[in-house]
Amino acid sequence: MSSMTPIQNLQFNQGSSQAGQQRGNVYKGRFAPSPTGPLHLGSLTTALGSWLDARAHGGQWIVRIEDVDRPRTIAGADQIILQQLKACGLVWDEVPVWQSQRSHLYEAALEQLVNKQLVYSCKCSRKQIEETLQESGVILESHEELVYPGTCRGKLHPLDQAALRMKLPSQYVMNFIDRMMGGQFQNLNSAVGDFVLRRADGLFSYQLAVIVDDYLQGITHVVRGDDLLSNTARQIYLQQCLGYPTPSYMHLPIVKNDAGEKLSKQTQAQAIDIHNRESVLKALNYSARHLGIESSELIESKTVEVWLNKAVLIWQVKLQVRNYLHK
Ligand code: GLU
Repeated sequence: MSSMTPIQNLQFNQGSSQAGQQRGNVYKGRFAPSPTGPLHLGSLTTALGSWLDARAHGGQWIVRIEDVDRPRTIAGADQIILQQLKACGLVWDEVPVWQSQRSHLYEAALEQLVNKQLVYSCKCSRKQIEETLQESGVILESHEELVYPGTCRGKLHPLDQAALRMKLPSQYVMNFIDRMMGGQFQNLNSAVGDFVLRRADGLFSYQLAVIVDDYLQGITHVVRGDDLLSNTARQIYLQQCLGYPTPSYMHLPIVKNDAGEKLSKQTQAQAIDIHNRESVLKALNYSARHLGIESSELIESKTVEVWLNKAVLIWQVKLQVRNYLHK
């Protein structure tokens, strides 16, 4: 994440948190899969990393099904993911929730932001935004997230017939410390722009839903893939606007295929095979290698339970070494 604006014009803002302090020093982590397909080695690795971190801290761990983007949701994928997690021994401490059943909560948070006059409506199509950006000399990469140029900011369209965007302060730089990646900063204006809170089709954005849920579910530690690192600054900004505490963040390196692409449904990642104990242990050992905790003790484990108990101990040692090195 970086900024191209002259440094003297920027407002620097501290988004890092002392996780746990505002919430009585507990640890509550989560895995928040989008049900766009079954778990593959990439999503299993993220699930395992967040589960291990929670257990190594003696904390709780929950699962939230992020089906807020309904057109991308695949029927039945949620149940398959839950079965796969269970087969891998990654058992949750609370009944899972589905974002599609929580719209009233996102609506209430949105209303708070509207009342603070931090929201405006936008009628621009993606094509119009692309054209405006191109006219101002921006070179667009395909599938790139567009930095909204603020076209509708002063237009006062009614709030109920259009996309709703967050009105950012100018030259706003968010800083935070990531437990894995270290110090981060992002100029929200040049990297993100006024981002969407509710789409024109009425669906709430991932950005809004995720921070409302993390807050309401009392999440103190977010451990997720580093493909989401660039979303974190705007999520911290939203938390600050709504008066929510900021959890601690840790972004794990995502698993890539031989072509260097993120494993995903689009890149034809295979579902993990849970039909017998050997195949589950094989998938867990693959994830452990990616997370940097592979060991002969794990490879020699005969049951999932023994494997996980050993992995928690190894993760604890890894945390102690990290803490020691960073003292
Ligand atoms: N639902 C997101 C995904 O499956 C993860 C969101 C998060 O962990 O904040 O990629």
